[in-house]
Amino acid sequence: MKNIYIIGVGLIGGSLAIDIKQNDPEVVIHGISRKQSTLDEALSLNLIDKKATLDDIGNADLVIISIPVDATVKLLPTILDKISDSGLVVDAGSTKVDICKIVENHPKRRNFLAMHPIAGTEHSGPSAAISGLFKGKTNIVCEVEKTTFKLQEKALKLFVDIGMRIRYMNPEAHDKHIAYMSHLSHISSFMLGKTVIEKEKNERDIFDMAGSGFASTVRLAKSSPEMWTPIFKQNKENVIETLKEYIDNLNQFKKLMEKDDFEAVYNEMKNTNHIKQILNGIA
Ligand code: NAP
Repeated sequence: MKNIYIIGVGLIGGSLAIDIKQNDPEVVIHGISRKQSTLDEALSLNLIDKKATLDDIGNADLVIISIPVDATVKLLPTILDKISDSGLVVDAGSTKVDICKIVENHPKRRNFLAMHPIAGTEHSGPSAAISGLFKGKTNIVCEVEKTTFKLQEKALKLFVDIGMRIRYMNPEAHDKHIAYMSHLSHISSFMLGKTVIEKEKNERDIFDMAGSGFASTVRLAKSSPEMWTPIFKQNKENVIETLKEYIDNLNQFKKLMEKDDFEAVYNEMKNTNHIKQILNGIA
């Protein structure tokens, strides 16, 4: 692949640009963004080689779309209209059902591959891009059979070359599972942060007591609302289901405390300690 166009050179697009360029310095990375200032920043950080616009996309071997998921749904059909017969378009969006649906009958559907790299941080924009973000991480690929075999091969080689392992899933299963593994964690972190900030208005020195446990638990509350609101909107039904189950668990825990049933409180925590083994298996 010679000409790679990245639409949205933020955390994900910028980090992909760094790793792809490191693997193949011959590749020319073209950046496309809404704001000129963002493209200038991406250029000054050496994330991209050149600035481009959507009109240049006919020249692309690969287009990577890494903008908020609502913007992806709006833009993807136009990008597929413009791509050459041998060009490939991939998206990195955190939801997959609406994105796959919008192009299901597009004449160039076979030039598109839907993916979700399970890698990230709470930071955003070009300055958040880092090298090695995807190493050892999973890339979930949806509806792989709908992409031309030759383009599948090219894309999968690129992901494996930057250290990713591939998992295949249908878009519905992806959105359901990711609601638990990622979307609920973000909401719980945002609401924990909110609870503490509201208290802090009255008790000025509460943050003096904030230790590393608090910092790591609210880390995700620093994430971008511009990126997360469309994710929650597109995955509304699944996210509401996870919230219901989570709130039931919180209420159950509160009831045990109110009843002074500290043996049950102990057991709730002891049983949940099993998460250590599960996470060790993933690491
Ligand atoms: P990001 O750092 O905020 O970068 C997104 C870029 O998209 C911004 O630089 C912004 O550039 C541009 N943008 C924002 N709104 C736009 C709009 N309405 N239309 C066109 N461009 C727009 O976000 P990110 O974390 O890289 O996320 C990008 C995609 O990857 C999202 O679909 C997200 O769901 C997915 N993803 C994120 C993570 C994560 O942990 N962050 C992990 C996996 C996948 P301008 O300043 O020019 O507007």
